[in-house]
Amino acid sequence: MKLSEVQRFTVARHIVAETDRTLRTAGDDGYECFALWTGVFLDSRFAVEHLYVPFQEAYRGEDGVCVQVGADELHSLNRWLYDKHQTLAIQIHTHPHEAYHSETDDTYPIVTTLGGVSIVVADFARPGLLASSTAYYRLEPGGWVSVHRAAMDPLVEVS
Ligand SMILES: [Zn+2]
Repeated sequence: MKLSEVQRFTVARHIVAETDRTLRTAGDDGYECFALWTGVFLDSRFAVEHLYVPFQEAYRGEDGVCVQVGADELHSLNRWLYDKHQTLAIQIHTHPHEAYHSETDDTYPIVTTLGGVSIVVADFARPGLLASSTAYYRLEPGGWVSVHRAAMDPLVEVS
Protein backbone atom coordinates (compact mmCIF):
# COMPACT_ATOMS: atom_id res chain seq x y z
CA MET A 1 0.00 0.00 0.00
CA LYS A 2 1.10 3.54 -0.72
CA LEU A 3 0.78 6.57 1.51
CA SER A 4 -1.23 8.35 -1.19
CA GLU A 5 -3.90 5.61 -0.95
CA VAL A 6 -4.43 6.03 2.79
CA GLN A 7 -7.86 7.46 3.66
CA ARG A 8 -7.40 7.76 7.40
CA PHE A 9 -4.61 8.05 9.93
CA THR A 10 -5.18 6.74 13.44
CA VAL A 11 -3.17 7.68 16.50
CA ALA A 12 -3.36 6.61 20.13
CA ARG A 13 -4.32 9.24 22.68
CA HIS A 14 -1.07 8.87 24.63
CA ILE A 15 0.95 9.73 21.51
CA VAL A 16 -1.18 12.85 20.98
CA ALA A 17 -0.61 13.82 24.64
CA GLU A 18 3.15 13.22 24.42
CA THR A 19 3.32 15.27 21.22
CA ASP A 20 1.32 18.11 22.77
CA ARG A 21 3.73 18.19 25.73
CA THR A 22 6.76 18.31 23.44
CA LEU A 23 5.33 21.12 21.28
CA ARG A 24 4.18 23.19 24.27
CA THR A 25 7.49 22.87 26.11
CA ALA A 26 9.29 24.44 23.14
CA GLY A 27 6.53 27.02 22.79
CA ASP A 28 6.84 28.06 26.41
CA ASP A 29 10.39 29.17 25.56
CA GLY A 30 9.13 30.95 22.43
CA TYR A 31 10.31 28.32 19.95
CA GLU A 32 8.62 26.44 17.15
CA CYS A 33 9.00 22.69 17.27
CA PHE A 34 8.97 19.88 14.72
CA ALA A 35 7.64 16.43 15.59
CA LEU A 36 7.18 13.37 13.40
CA TRP A 37 4.71 10.51 13.51
CA THR A 38 5.71 7.16 12.11
CA GLY A 39 3.82 3.91 11.86
CA VAL A 40 2.57 1.09 9.67
CA PHE A 41 -0.09 0.43 7.05
CA LEU A 42 -3.11 -1.40 8.44
CA ASP A 43 -5.89 -2.31 6.00
CA SER A 44 -6.91 0.95 4.33
CA ARG A 45 -5.54 3.11 7.11
CA PHE A 46 -2.23 4.15 8.54
CA ALA A 47 -1.66 3.44 12.23
CA VAL A 48 0.71 5.88 13.96
CA GLU A 49 2.96 3.99 16.39
CA HIS A 50 5.74 6.38 17.33
CA LEU A 51 6.49 10.01 18.04
CA TYR A 52 9.94 10.88 16.73
CA VAL A 53 11.31 14.25 17.75
CA PRO A 54 14.27 15.01 15.49
CA PHE A 55 17.27 16.87 16.81
CA GLN A 56 16.55 20.43 15.70
CA GLU A 57 17.90 23.89 16.10
CA ALA A 58 15.36 26.59 16.74
CA TYR A 59 16.03 30.22 15.98
CA ARG A 60 14.25 33.28 17.19
CA GLY A 61 14.99 36.41 15.21
CA GLU A 62 13.44 39.63 14.05
CA ASP A 63 11.66 37.79 11.24
CA GLY A 64 10.02 35.41 13.66
CA VAL A 65 10.97 31.90 14.58
CA CYS A 66 12.06 28.90 12.59
CA VAL A 67 13.39 25.41 13.06
CA GLN A 68 16.07 23.54 11.14
CA VAL A 69 16.75 19.82 11.05
CA GLY A 70 20.19 19.03 9.66
CA ALA A 71 21.28 16.45 7.08
CA ASP A 72 22.97 14.25 9.73
CA GLU A 73 19.74 14.05 11.70
CA LEU A 74 17.73 13.21 8.57
CA HIS A 75 20.20 10.39 7.96
CA SER A 76 19.73 9.13 11.54
CA LEU A 77 15.97 9.33 11.09
CA ASN A 78 16.08 7.23 7.93
CA ARG A 79 18.24 4.60 9.62
CA TRP A 80 15.86 4.53 12.60
CA LEU A 81 12.84 4.12 10.26
CA TYR A 82 14.56 1.22 8.51
CA ASP A 83 15.62 -0.51 11.75
CA LYS A 84 12.17 -0.17 13.35
CA HIS A 85 10.23 -1.05 10.16
CA GLN A 86 8.46 2.28 10.34
CA THR A 87 7.13 4.59 7.65
CA LEU A 88 7.26 8.36 8.12
CA ALA A 89 3.79 9.66 7.32
CA ILE A 90 3.09 12.83 9.27
CA GLN A 91 5.08 15.90 10.22
CA ILE A 92 3.79 18.29 12.84
CA HIS A 93 5.06 21.73 13.72
CA THR A 94 3.94 24.72 15.67
CA HIS A 95 3.53 28.36 14.78
CA PRO A 96 3.48 31.23 17.30
CA HIS A 97 0.08 32.39 16.07
CA GLU A 98 -1.89 31.32 13.01
CA ALA A 99 -1.52 27.83 11.53
CA TYR A 100 -0.80 27.73 7.78
CA HIS A 101 1.80 26.26 5.44
CA SER A 102 4.36 28.98 4.89
CA GLU A 103 6.62 29.21 1.85
CA THR A 104 9.43 27.75 3.98
CA ASP A 105 7.14 24.90 5.04
CA ASP A 106 6.34 24.18 1.37
CA THR A 107 10.01 24.28 0.39
CA TYR A 108 11.67 22.37 3.24
CA PRO A 109 9.35 19.60 4.43
CA ILE A 110 10.73 16.55 6.25
CA VAL A 111 7.92 14.38 4.87
CA THR A 112 8.55 14.15 1.13
CA THR A 113 6.43 11.12 0.17
CA LEU A 114 3.28 11.67 -1.88
CA GLY A 115 0.24 11.31 0.38
CA GLY A 116 2.20 12.42 3.44
CA VAL A 117 0.52 14.76 5.90
CA SER A 118 1.74 18.03 7.37
CA ILE A 119 -0.01 19.36 10.45
CA VAL A 120 0.52 22.96 11.53
CA VAL A 121 -0.53 23.78 15.08
CA ALA A 122 -1.46 27.33 16.08
CA ASP A 123 -0.43 29.28 19.20
CA PHE A 124 2.55 27.04 20.05
CA ALA A 125 0.08 24.17 20.62
CA ARG A 126 -1.46 25.80 23.69
CA PRO A 127 -4.98 24.76 22.47
CA GLY A 128 -3.64 21.27 21.68
CA LEU A 129 -2.75 19.77 18.32
CA LEU A 130 -6.26 18.47 17.72
CA ALA A 131 -7.82 21.92 18.21
CA SER A 132 -10.01 23.39 15.48
CA SER A 133 -7.29 26.02 14.81
CA THR A 134 -4.95 23.28 13.54
CA ALA A 135 -4.34 23.16 9.77
CA TYR A 136 -3.89 19.95 7.74
CA TYR A 137 -2.05 19.61 4.45
CA ARG A 138 -1.36 16.66 2.21
CA LEU A 139 1.42 16.25 -0.33
CA GLU A 140 -0.04 15.83 -3.80
CA PRO A 141 1.82 15.71 -7.14
CA GLY A 142 1.48 19.50 -7.47
CA GLY A 143 2.59 20.27 -3.92
CA TRP A 144 1.07 20.70 -0.46
CA VAL A 145 -2.72 21.05 -0.53
CA SER A 146 -4.90 22.20 2.34
CA VAL A 147 -7.25 19.48 3.59
CA HIS A 148 -10.68 20.21 5.05
CA ARG A 149 -12.55 17.23 6.44
CA ALA A 150 -15.79 17.18 8.39
CA ALA A 151 -15.58 16.51 12.12
CA MET A 152 -17.42 13.24 11.47
CA ASP A 153 -14.77 12.18 8.98
CA PRO A 154 -11.40 13.34 10.30
CA LEU A 155 -8.18 12.72 8.37
CA VAL A 156 -6.44 11.99 11.67
CA GLU A 157 -8.50 10.07 14.20
CA VAL A 158 -7.65 9.31 17.82
CA SER A 159 -7.97 5.55 18.30
ZN1 LIG B 1 5.56 26.65 9.50
